[in-house]
Amino acid sequence: MITKFFRRILGSKSKPIDRSIPVMLSAKEHGIDPKLVSSNAIRVTQGLQQAGFKAFLVGGAVRDLLLGIKPKDFDIATNATPEQVRKLFRRAFIIGRRFQIVHVMFGQDLLEVTTFRGASVDAAPKDEHGRVLRDNTFGEQHEDAIRRDFTINAMYYDPDTQTVLDYHGGMADIRNKTLRIIGVPEERYREDPVRLLRVVRFAAKLDFTIDAATAAPIKTMAPLINNVPAARVFDEMLKLLMSGHAMACLHHLRKEGLHHGLLPLLDVVLEQPLGEKFVRLALASTDARVKQGKPVSPGFLFASLLWHQVLEKWTAYQAAGEASIPALHLAADDVLDSQTEKLSLQRKIASDMRDIWAMQPRFERRTGKAPYKLLENLRLRAGYDFLLLRCASGEIDAELGEWWTDFMEGDIGAREQLQTQKPRSSDTSGAPKRAKRRSGRGRAKPEGGTSEGGE
Ligand code: ATP
Ligand code: MG
Repeated sequence: MITKFFRRILGSKSKPIDRSIPVMLSAKEHGIDPKLVSSNAIRVTQGLQQAGFKAFLVGGAVRDLLLGIKPKDFDIATNATPEQVRKLFRRAFIIGRRFQIVHVMFGQDLLEVTTFRGASVDAAPKDEHGRVLRDNTFGEQHEDAIRRDFTINAMYYDPDTQTVLDYHGGMADIRNKTLRIIGVPEERYREDPVRLLRVVRFAAKLDFTIDAATAAPIKTMAPLINNVPAARVFDEMLKLLMSGHAMACLHHLRKEGLHHGLLPLLDVVLEQPLGEKFVRLALASTDARVKQGKPVSPGFLFASLLWHQVLEKWTAYQAAGEASIPALHLAADDVLDSQTEKLSLQRKIASDMRDIWAMQPRFERRTGKAPYKLLENLRLRAGYDFLLLRCASGEIDAELGEWWTDFMEGDIGAREQLQTQKPRSSDTSGAPKRAKRRSGRGRAKPEGGTSEGGE
């Protein structure tokens, strides 16, 4: 019945639809289970409403609720100004990014409260490609709705009355599993090219079909991503990689030519069979972890994505006469430097990546105190998981991973026994042996087996 109604209004080209009047959906029509709404989100909407303001859950939370999924976070939209919101809650902070928003905290729980945005971006300052640089004008709720990216992300839910306000036919698109951008696609991508990545992420995550008009300009507009500040691209990339559908997203990004500006080195990596396999395994394991509700570390993720680039440079430095461990550090520096510029890798993530990489040669040292020392390393688990990926991808002999599994799980006796075992293969290192020291170059030490170059 409702679907029919939407089809009728969406299909009628003759009469323009008044987008300032929302369709109101009752609890019976939208079917949201109120138990899926966090009590803190309700505290915020109630607090605002009791102070005389409008307040709704909005965006991804409403979309997920309509799909019967428990939202991972709740965004709230209101007609109160950031300053008015801040005054209503004990722990509330105005965050001034591209848009001013308020963070309301209850314990560890963070809720983002945004004031309805004004409709027109025409007057907003833009860069030479048409990207909106700043725009903090407040407006009416229907104007806020038109500024949102997709129809399914532009619905408002009032937990008090349990009604959904739908301005752009989002409910029909939820039912038809269609991802449709609001407005003229080319204009919306130009205003904010990050939306190109968001299309890919939502289509993969929700398993929705991208509406033809929404999909059509993506390929030609893909280069616009290059003009977006690195920090924003990084945030969106992280969401994409941690969506539980990273592999599907990556596949889609490549298909649309969107991967060029994102992880330039990844392009090269994916073209080598070993690198491709490594990335595929890393993303599959990340996706599985996300689906099981386990935490995923961005450092591990990016360390995986860029490992084969590090490997290539590690090999090159060793071939030029550098010893294994210094060569690995130089390779890590090179890769991190080039990616930091492009991706704006946060310092913490970059340092996690370096730790994971730097641990790899240490796994080759199986005798004496070295492996016991490694057991005490706080990042051992991440380093070990990474080692297993290297084994599974065929980069190094699986025996090294098995040895470490046994060593980590074994008691004292078992560990001693393992230490007396002769490795099945004498060179388990992923990086080829370094070349002989060239005259006067590098800090290379004499060749010394697999446990060379200790720290
Ligand atoms: P997720 O479940 O991944 O958090 P989400 O839809 O909530 O998905 P957010 O990035 O948290 O995504 O954004 C919240 C809401 O803000 C979106 O649903 C959308 O309405 C709006 N929004 C976010 N980014 C944009 C954008 N680039 N252009 C227009 N609207 C946006
Ligand atoms: Mg969200």
